[in-house]
Amino acid sequence: MPLFLFFGARNVRRTLQQGEFHCPRCRSVQRFERVYAQPHAHVYFIPLFKVGQGQEYVRCEQCRTRFHPSVLGSPGAAVADRDGSGSAADPRARLVAATAAALSAVALADGPASEAEIEAIARELSDVAGARVAVEDVRRAVAATAAGDVERAARVVRAAAVGERPEVREAIVTALLRVSAAEGDPSPAAAAAVRQLAGALDVTPTHLRGIVADLSV
Ligand SMILES: [Zn+2]
Repeated sequence: MPLFLFFGARNVRRTLQQGEFHCPRCRSVQRFERVYAQPHAHVYFIPLFKVGQGQEYVRCEQCRTRFHPSVLGSPGAAVADRDGSGSAADPRARLVAATAAALSAVALADGPASEAEIEAIARELSDVAGARVAVEDVRRAVAATAAGDVERAARVVRAAAVGERPEVREAIVTALLRVSAAEGDPSPAAAAAVRQLAGALDVTPTHLRGIVADLSV
């Protein structure tokens, strides 16, 4: 878990409305907060990338139960939202953060990240996040990454990819390869970083060669 202090996921909450409502659980009038929660991948607690869909809910300030926003329109009709979406880290956001860590590690393997590498990371992360990732945000993420810390990135990405399908792992490895080749042939240090990170994703050297061959066609 401490790994995610550096790269992880958290919801960014925005209060849309406050007031009083009839809480179905308290069975009385209570103060509420209507909240919009958007999962973000973060680096060092700086929320960087929006990931997936945000969610809106109404929370009773007394019992802290979350309800669907329709509770404000039709008292008693709403069902409590028990999925904990407002607090649990979104696994997808965690994976995006880990991918950001891995891509940054590859870009930094042979010295400071170039503009071409940063742009490549933004493109690849946008694919993984399913939302446009700004080049400016990537610059901040890369700046927050310690150079040469491939080992840490490998641990982060291994932990975040637990339970992910082989296609997802392969997509991340493909992104790593593309970033390593952002400026032409990858340097030996960048290639070694890709091999280590691919290993952390359980992509074997043989499989990795296959992915490289597909990309070169
Ligand atoms: Zn309540």
